[in-house]
Formats: sequence, C-alpha cells, structure tokens
Amino acid sequence: MPTEIADPSLPPALKPGQTIGILGGGQLGRMIAVAAARLGLKAHVYEPQPRSPAGDVAAQTFSASYTDRMALTAFARSVDVITYEFENIPTEALDLLGRLKPIRPNRRALEVSQDRLTEKTFLNDHACKTAPFAEVDSLETLKAAIATIGTPAILKTRRFGYDGKGQMRITAPAQAEAAWEGIGAVPAILEGHVAFSHEVSVIAARGLDGAVAVYDPGENLHLGGILATTTVPARLTASQRQDAVLAAARLLNALDYVGVMGVEFFVTEGGLVVNEIAPRVHNSGHWTQNGCAVDQFEQHVRAIAGWPLGDGTRHADVVMENLIGEAVERVPDIAREANAALHLYGKAEARPGRKMGHVNRIVPRQG
Ligand code: AMP
Repeated sequence: MPTEIADPSLPPALKPGQTIGILGGGQLGRMIAVAAARLGLKAHVYEPQPRSPAGDVAAQTFSASYTDRMALTAFARSVDVITYEFENIPTEALDLLGRLKPIRPNRRALEVSQDRLTEKTFLNDHACKTAPFAEVDSLETLKAAIATIGTPAILKTRRFGYDGKGQMRITAPAQAEAAWEGIGAVPAILEGHVAFSHEVSVIAARGLDGAVAVYDPGENLHLGGILATTTVPARLTASQRQDAVLAAARLLNALDYVGVMGVEFFVTEGGLVVNEIAPRVHNSGHWTQNGCAVDQFEQHVRAIAGWPLGDGTRHADVVMENLIGEAVERVPDIAREANAALHLYGKAEARPGRKMGHVNRIVPRQG
C-alpha cells in the first residue's frame, strides 16, 4: 500500500486500524471521522455533549469537559494523533494533550487564529493585505480607533467570534459607547469596512512532508453573517486566482502547518484582502466532497496521518447550499433532485441559524 511518505526523518504514517482523535463533536468532526473510516482509520471524538454529530459516527466518544484531566489523558492515550474541528480549545487542555500525542495542525496555528489581533498582524507580516485595524481595550481606545480608521467600521471581539457573533457595526462616532457595551466590553479590534464586490475562500492543505495542495477558490455568499452558499468556479481573474493560491501556500509554510486550512478573502478593486484564516476544514470547502476525487476531509486526514496528499483537482462545477434551521424541511424535495448530493448532520432540532446539513448541486465538467 503506497501510503508511507518515503522519508525516514519523518514520523511514521498511520496504518489502517490506527486512530485519529478529534476535539469537537460537530458536523466538521463528523465528516472528518467518515473520511477517516473510508481510509481504514478509526476516529475517537472528545465532546462535552453526550450526543453529537461526530459522536454518532465515531468508534468511541469521550464525553467530558475540557477541564477534565483524567478524561483528556484517557482520550490522548487511546489515539495516535490529535486534530480539532474548532479553534477555541482551552490552552490547558492543549498543554496536557500535546505532551501525550502530536497535535496537528500545531499550536501556533491555533494561537494565531484564536485572536483577531494576532491573526491580522501575522497576515500583514506575511504579505497579506487586511482591512485597516486597531486594537481596542476600552471605550477611550475605541473612540481613538474610530478617529483614525473612520466609519463605517466593525468592532469585533478579539476572541470567541464566529458566524458574525461578537461583532457590532459602527456607522457614526456617536455609536461608540453602544458598540462597546454591545460586544460586552471585552478586548476587541476595530476594523475598517472593506468595500468588496464579493467574497472568496481557498481551502489548502500541507502534508507532513511539506507538500502543499490547494483547491480551486470558491465564491461565498453570507446571509446574516452565516455562510449561505459556495460556488465554484469563483469569479476571479487568473491573477487574482494565483494571488489567492500563493497567499494560502505562504501562510501554510509560515506556520509549518499540517492539515487543511481555510483562508477567506474579500475581492476588491485593489486586489484581494484577507478576512480571516481557519486552522481546520471549512464550511466553504464542502463543495470538494462532490467536486474532487479527494475532498477536504480526506485531505485533512491524509495530512495529519502522514500520508501523501491526494488529488484535489476540480472535476465539476458545484454550488454548495447550507441547510440552515427550517431549510432542512426542503430535504424531501432535494432528495428527488438530479445531480444533488445531500449531506445531513443528524441533528434532531432545527433551531434558527443552526447548520443542519448541506447540499452540493453539481454540473459535470464537459470535455
Ligand atoms: P467574520 O466573522 O469576521 O468572518 O465576518 C463575517 C462576515 O461579515 C464576513 O464574511 C463579511 O461578509 C462581513 N465582514 C466582516 N468584516 C468585514 C469588513 N471589515 N468589511 C466588510 N465586511 C466585513
């Protein structure tokens, strides 16, 4: 089986029957676990909730809090490599786990992406343009930041923000106090509003041997701060496409990264502006499941397991639609559609804003 990277200086590749550990039991963890199973590997999931989308398809679930040192230790001992499906893992848990088993992607990738200030500084240091930004840690610094950056602007918490949460738009300086209270008066950054025509993202992977593979960029439509659809191919010029791919590769190399990463961009008249990076498989990469021979989940498993990266060439045009909240009620109709691949996460309750599944509608490529 040609699974080993033939380099004796690298750690050995995982063999069928060995186990990856996934921190987090959501849909991303579920799809990583399924990809691992297809490669003959097992998945153990660490998730505080007793039932979870990933736990449903894992060989074993450790249902305990991220402060439970005994459970964390037992989890680490039961697996061969540890990965994660969300960024906000407590540092103490990572310290403990990292002493027992390799964590891929590494801690540095998490540190950079967990904090918007560190992230934006890192991006600028690696030749990636971002929105103008300023550190905010009080109402006074917010007022000063508004004076420098101007309005419209967005106040974002430095940590724990996702899907547009922890953000306040500011259209006039008089809104400073309300915005500061609105985000809970916690450390933040003020970002200048970027006048973009559309948003794209790149899903990229780096193997244990340093090989890099980048998927075709996808075009993302957000509604209410949540990803609604991703369309490939994205509307990009050849040079924009190349800029996006090169930026992703540069960031992966700078972090000595192993695994899949998502990089989100704004497309502007002056070129691409990076919004944020996610050190994990990414919702905007779900199209790869039906558009490529090797999708982002298998690519991630290959990378963290020390296997060679797979072929991520796009063989179809795809529109991925997230099924959010009650949109899941359309499933019976979608199930009858031609060229539509359904991916459901097994969540019982369809709350507003909750991602219940997605559908990939494909148009096979001609010729
Ligand atoms: P975020 O949580 O930072 O990814 O932001 C969610 C969405 O809000 C983005 O995908 C954009 O549509 C919008 N957004 C965030 N930051 C900015 C910005 N600086 N300028 C314009 N739109 C933004």
